Amino acid sequence: MEELEWVIPFVPSEDVFLLGIVPGIEWVLAAVLAVYAAHSLYGGLIPQSQLFGPIFRGRSGAGRVVALTFDDGPHPTATRQVMDILEAREARGTFFVIGRHAKAYPDIVREIVRRGHEVGNHTQSHSWLMALALSRKTRDEIENCQETILRIAGLRPRLYRQPIGFKNPFLFRQLKRSGLTAIGWQARGFDSHAGDSGPVVRRILRKVRQGRIIALHDGCDMEMGRDRTATIEALSAVLDGLAREGYRFTTVSRLLGESPYQSGLQDGTVQSHPAHPAHPGRSAFAVQSDSPNQPAA
Ligand SMILES: [Zn+2]
Repeated sequence: MEELEWVIPFVPSEDVFLLGIVPGIEWVLAAVLAVYAAHSLYGGLIPQSQLFGPIFRGRSGAGRVVALTFDDGPHPTATRQVMDILEAREARGTFFVIGRHAKAYPDIVREIVRRGHEVGNHTQSHSWLMALALSRKTRDEIENCQETILRIAGLRPRLYRQPIGFKNPFLFRQLKRSGLTAIGWQARGFDSHAGDSGPVVRRILRKVRQGRIIALHDGCDMEMGRDRTATIEALSAVLDGLAREGYRFTTVSRLLGESPYQSGLQDGTVQSHPAHPAHPGRSAFAVQSDSPNQPAA
C-alpha cells in the first residue's frame, strides 16, 4: 500500500507542480516506479521467477530421472491415452487438473488415482487473470479446486501448478494456508496449441537434464475436448528418446520426497498421508536446480 500512496499523489498535474519544488524529484520517483513495475512484471509473469515465493522445479543430483507432468485436463480421451502410453513404459505421471474440467469428467480423475498416477491442483477455472488476482479470488480458485478434487477422489492434493506460470504475492500466502507446494518445470513443449509433434519433442529433449520436471498438456484450458494428437505423438517420442539416453521416469512427489496428498477421506474419515516412503522427510528445496539453462549435477 505504501507504493500506492506515492503513486496516487504523483498523477494529478497540480501535485506534479508541487513536486517541482525539489528539482529532479519526479525523475527519481519515475525511476523507482519503473523498477517496481519491472520487478512485479518479472515476478508475476516469468514462469521461472521465484521473487514472490518458492517453486519446486526439479532436483539436481536425483540421478538420471525426470518427472512428467500434464496440465489442463482431464480430457475426455487424451488423459487415458497419456496414461496408456506412460504405463506401457512402466512410467507414472502427475496430472494438474482444472477443477471445472474435473467436475465434467470425475471418473477420469478417479481413474488417474486408481492407476497409480498423481493428481494436482491447477485452479478451478484456469483464469488468465490469476497474476492480477487479489487474495479473495486467489483463495477461491485454489480452494475450490482442492474441494472439487477432494469430493471426486477423496484426496486433498499437496501439489499446485499456477496457470500459465503466472504468480503474485497473494498466491504464495494462499498456498501456505492451503498446504500446497508450487510446482514449476524446466522443460516444456509449448504443446498446448501445437499442430505438429516434431517441435514439441525437440524443445523438450533439448532442455532435459537429470532430475528435471517436464511439462506437457493432456487437456486444453479453453476447450475441454480440443484435439491433443500433437501431444500424444510427442509423448511417445519423448519417452523413447529419453529411454535411449538412459533416463528413468518418476513422479513429482517422488522427486519432491513428499506424498502427493495431504489427507484423504477414507471410510468417511480424514486420514493423513505420510511423506513418500522413497524419500522420507527430505527437504523439498534444499538441492533443487534454479536455472532452466544450467545442466543439473
Ligand atoms: Zn494450464
